[in-house]
Amino acid sequence: MNHRLKKIRDVLQELGVDAFITGNPANRSYLSGFSGSAGLVIITMDDAVLITDFRYLETAVQEAPHFTIRDRTNYSDPIVAIYDVLKEAKVTKIAIEEEALTIAEYAKWKLVFSGMTLVPTSGIVENLRMNKDEEEVKTIKQAIRITEDAFDHVLSFVRPGIRELDIAIELETFIRKQGAVSAFEMIVASGTRGALPHGKASEKTIAAGEMVTLDFGVNFNGYCSDITRTIAVGNPSDQMRKIYEVVLRAQQTAIQQLKPGMTAQELDSISREVIAQAGYAKYTHRASGHSFGLEVHERPNLSISDKRVIEEGMVLTIEPGIYMRDVGGVRIEDNVFVTKNGCERLTNTNTELIILPI
Ligand code: ZN
Ligand code: ZN
Repeated sequence: MNHRLKKIRDVLQELGVDAFITGNPANRSYLSGFSGSAGLVIITMDDAVLITDFRYLETAVQEAPHFTIRDRTNYSDPIVAIYDVLKEAKVTKIAIEEEALTIAEYAKWKLVFSGMTLVPTSGIVENLRMNKDEEEVKTIKQAIRITEDAFDHVLSFVRPGIRELDIAIELETFIRKQGAVSAFEMIVASGTRGALPHGKASEKTIAAGEMVTLDFGVNFNGYCSDITRTIAVGNPSDQMRKIYEVVLRAQQTAIQQLKPGMTAQELDSISREVIAQAGYAKYTHRASGHSFGLEVHERPNLSISDKRVIEEGMVLTIEPGIYMRDVGGVRIEDNVFVTKNGCERLTNTNTELIILPI
């Protein structure tokens, strides 16, 4: 964690502030290593403080060895605990995360921290989090393995007559048994429901000949995975086969052409272009991927509006899709690690259409 503290101090110096506060769980964990669900991190130029309560003191000491641990249990208001730390550190200009506070909270902070200047900032830690280090990639790979094992496992379970919910429960149970949890509410969308990019598992029963989109990921030791496969339960229609083939080509083309130096927008346009040329432009509307790590959606977002540059060390999902109302949908999502010249595919699961025998 030490090199992360150095990096953030460099940013603080550039901004001309002498402290940074975050209570954002992912940012807090990234900077300190602390995995507890309540706490606040204060970074100054020569100290790093983690304020938490009695429930987490032990964990904090173990997980955040580079931090001074402060107990806020006896403070009636945690904001006073923060104030004490800042006062002791003799800081005057403090960077806060503008997304973290409501307008009412901000007004209160300004009042309590009178004599200090609060500087609203955005994305300081999120920007550092964009490039993953070796340790992070290792954990992400473990999360991906569990996800792929879960997918392999559920293939023998999917058949006509069961509900989307049953598939979700089967996946969920498998994931929990591997020591992970779902990173987000999984998507199981069959038949025409496949046209809903975020179709959560419903009571709908799977019918023979339908395609089923499974989009799920796990959180393992703090890090996420996010994978989608669309499978066929028995023989799908020619139309759905065609859609699958176009989405697969779009996805493969994006992975092949991905290069550090291009913008997220440019990367997004690669698969979008393939889909458009096949005549499905109006049926693809989502972003075609995103970064992930401690959170399932991180910067950059592979969308038509994100101009951030793709860099070596990023971990991305590539997930184009076609969604046709009253017909169905296909999405294929893989996870990649951006290398010097292109990318390494982290997901090993076959992307060819799987047709389950019925
Ligand atoms: Zn996904
Ligand atoms: Zn995704």
